Amino acid sequence: MTASRLRLRVLGSGAGGGLPQWNCGCPPCRAARAGDPRVLSRTQSSLAVSADGGARWVLLNASPDVRVQLASWAAAAPPEGALRASPIAATVLSNADLDHCLGLLILREGGAPHLYATAPTLEAIEVGLGVSTALAAYGPTKSTVLPTDASEVAIVDRAGADTGVRVAAFSVASKVPPYAAARGLGKGRGELDGDTVGLLVKSAAGGRVLAYVPGVRDLDERLAGYLSRADVIFIDGTFFTNDEMTSLGLTTRDARAMGHAPLSGEHGIVSFLGRFTAAERWLVHINNTNPIHFSDSPERAWVESRGVRVSYDGLELEV
Ligand SMILES: [Zn+2]
Repeated sequence: MTASRLRLRVLGSGAGGGLPQWNCGCPPCRAARAGDPRVLSRTQSSLAVSADGGARWVLLNASPDVRVQLASWAAAAPPEGALRASPIAATVLSNADLDHCLGLLILREGGAPHLYATAPTLEAIEVGLGVSTALAAYGPTKSTVLPTDASEVAIVDRAGADTGVRVAAFSVASKVPPYAAARGLGKGRGELDGDTVGLLVKSAAGGRVLAYVPGVRDLDERLAGYLSRADVIFIDGTFFTNDEMTSLGLTTRDARAMGHAPLSGEHGIVSFLGRFTAAERWLVHINNTNPIHFSDSPERAWVESRGVRVSYDGLELEV
């Protein structure tokens, strides 16, 4: 292992609700519940990255499953001899979706990790959920506004110690989460004003670049420009088709209305990823209804035949 290489662990590869989702009877949820070996269970959307060989970690999103994600991972345990300490130094949010931010409330004891998010995301979680006020009642907190112009930000812990992780955020078109929209947030703002961002992540020591884009609707030239800088891409694998949820009768909003481009089709994510064949390409944030959960499905075979891989909880790699 080289010090300049970023280490990455997929804490949760599922979308909101995870797999199985508590109240869902769709085919992948039923198969996961029944222990079908073709379908892996998935917790909700989060990655962890380390630039120092695994001594300190930065969470990219904090899912409501973060407690079990950290409890089942030896590297996340408090250092030997420490009574209250954690290798988790900071959290960076890509947006204010509940599957990405509810874990902030779980990591409250003794003070929360340093939080980085865009101004609209910080506003959404405070006005919509009261997260920052609530956390401050349990211990010291610190939050830093993440700029959306892809300028490089050094990720430091609450005390200011550098983790060696560098993050550059860029706006992507997606949507404001329903709980925030219900409070009128997002009105009067453009879609590229920071409600959802993609992240370019690397080590301060240089080396290769990770792109993390768990939610994106518009696959445009701006996004292509950012992804072309990446050596490893983890991108939105939420839905296989645009009408996946509507055709099951589960909702009236299609994938794009929910802020996600579908994987399939000429204008889908898998086709778009064909422009970045030099990069390792992985899907994350995979909704429970997605047929690619079945390892023997034609949809899964089609994705993999294009050189795109389906990530899974516990996957670790060096960028
Ligand atoms: Zn389901």
